[in-house]
Parts: sequence; C-alpha cells; structure tokens
Amino acid sequence: MAEPSPHAPHQGWIEVIVGSMYSGKTEELIRRLRRAQIARQRVEIFKPAIDDRYAHDHIVSHSELRIPSHSVRHARDILRFARSAQVIGIDEGQFLGPGLVEVCERLARSGKRVIVAGLDQDYAGRPFEPMPQLLAIAEYITKTLAICMVCGGPANRTYRKVRRSGRVVVGGADLYEARCRRCHELGRRARAVTAGASPGGSHDASSVRARRRAPRRRRARRDARRRVR
Ligand code: ADP
Ligand code: MG
Ligand code: ZN
Repeated sequence: MAEPSPHAPHQGWIEVIVGSMYSGKTEELIRRLRRAQIARQRVEIFKPAIDDRYAHDHIVSHSELRIPSHSVRHARDILRFARSAQVIGIDEGQFLGPGLVEVCERLARSGKRVIVAGLDQDYAGRPFEPMPQLLAIAEYITKTLAICMVCGGPANRTYRKVRRSGRVVVGGADLYEARCRRCHELGRRARAVTAGASPGGSHDASSVRARRRAPRRRRARRDARRRVR
C-alpha cells in the first residue's frame, strides 16, 4: 500500500487512511506505526476516548491486531503528548471533531509525520467530518474497501443494521456491516433481492428468480453439469 517517499529532513506531512468499517483502516495504521517503531522512530498513538469498544489504552483492529495508545477527549489533547514524537498515529479521526484539522496542520508544520485513520462516510453515506477536510489537506491518501456482507462485492459504505437515531452510535458487528453502494441503498430489502448471490458481487436478481422457478431435479442436473466443468 502507498507509503510516502522520502521528504526533506524535518519536513512534516499528513497521511489519511479512509474507508468503511471493516475495510482494514486500523490494520493499515498499525502496520505503518509498527514499521516506524522498528526503525526506532519516536511514535505516539492516539484514539478518541469515546471509542472504548475493545480497550481504552490500545488501538485494536477487528482482526485483533493491537498497539498501545493514549485515549483523548479532544483533538487538542494530542498536542500535549506529541511534543517529542516524530510519528503521530490517530485512529477513528471522525470522532475527534473539527479541531483535528488544525491539530494535524500544526503537527505536520512542526516536522512530524501524521497518520490519521477514520470513516469517510457515516452510516447514511454522508461525508463524516472532519475526514473530508483532512483528505483535502493530506499529502497522501489511502482508501480501503471491505467486502459487502450481502453480495460479496467491494464495499465502501457502512450499514447500520438496527434503527437508532444519531450519527454517533459506537458499536461493532452487532450494529454495523460493510456494504457496497447498491446494497447500502437497498437497505433492509437488500437481503431478499441478492440472496444467493455469488462472491464477487453479482447483483443479478434474475438469476435468483430463475433458481426459484427451476424444478428440483432439473436444478440438480444443472448443478452437476456445473461441477464437472
Ligand atoms: P477498520 O479499522 O477499517 O474498521 P480493521 O482494520 O479493524 O478495519 O479490520 C479489518 C478486518 O476486519 C479484516 O482483516 C477482517 O479480518 C475483518 N472483517 C470483518 N468483516 C469484514 C468484511 N465485511 N470485509 C472485510 N474484512 C472484514
Ligand atoms: Mg478501525
Ligand atoms: Zn453489495
């Protein structure tokens, strides 16, 4: 995955990693931070205190990679811990509010490498501030995709499975799943339309209907033919 090429000494920059839930943002953030630690760079890592799903003192990915971190309530708290760091990692940037943009600017201006991961869209597919603003000012952008839990296609949206109002409802697989654009827009109807779709992302509902119509013996013969091919 794209990582920055060498910059002039003491020159800072901003890297942003965005995508839906389960797309591997935290895994990618941890990978970059570990490499920096191996190279003996001074690394400080932060996450918003609101995200206490797995641990309050570690960043944890859905695949259970973890790395120690500070929990902060406000973006400006990062400045206090970051003074002597060369590399700053921030996860779940969408929960740190508009102040995060200025904080990242200041850190980069003072010569630090700043890596921020976060959701670029909320559960309704709307841009999730301040990630769009960070994307605009970043030197490097990585957009990650998950796998749609309905059709198996590339997923860049997060679907909220339960009815809850409010943009910020912290949760995991109990509340959210990754979906592609179309299955996200279909909402609750998506499962019925695409049931049985193959991994790879076919949205062809007609093949599902044809399958329902085919008598069982004819279907068995057809499936056997497919297996020998
Ligand atoms: P993010 O930070 O973007 O939410 P993580 O880095 O925490 O993502 O987790 C990525 C991991 O989530 C994957 O490596 C995989 O193990 C797991 N995972 C769970 N659901 C999915 C999905 N629908 N698509 C891809 N990976 C998934
Ligand atoms: Mg994450
Ligand atoms: Zn889909």
